[in-house]
Amino acid sequence: MSGVMEKPIKIEDLLQRNVYDVDEEPHIAIPMDDQTGIPKELTLLCPCGCYTSVGEKLLYSYEGCLECGLCRVVSNNPRMKWTYPKSGRGVHYRFT
Ligand code: SF4
Repeated sequence: MSGVMEKPIKIEDLLQRNVYDVDEEPHIAIPMDDQTGIPKELTLLCPCGCYTSVGEKLLYSYEGCLECGLCRVVSNNPRMKWTYPKSGRGVHYRFT
């Protein structure tokens, strides 16, 4: 044990280490005309803030998605699309 305390790392700093190879075709699509079954709490639950609430509508962006699958699991709308990005696209995690 060195006795030197390491400085805590903020989650925002860890996320900025990732590399995103964004596919032009969204891998997530939620219907704008009927968002039944898509919980507004996604604005709080999504770990990278992909969801925002504007009035009664839930807006989203897929570019910074961590592909955790949480929004797919908690949503119950058959018109919601959730797939992984094409092979090799999407988030590339960096752990150093
Ligand atoms: S899969 Fe995870 S990171 Fe991506 S938008 Fe859904 S909740 Fe957010």
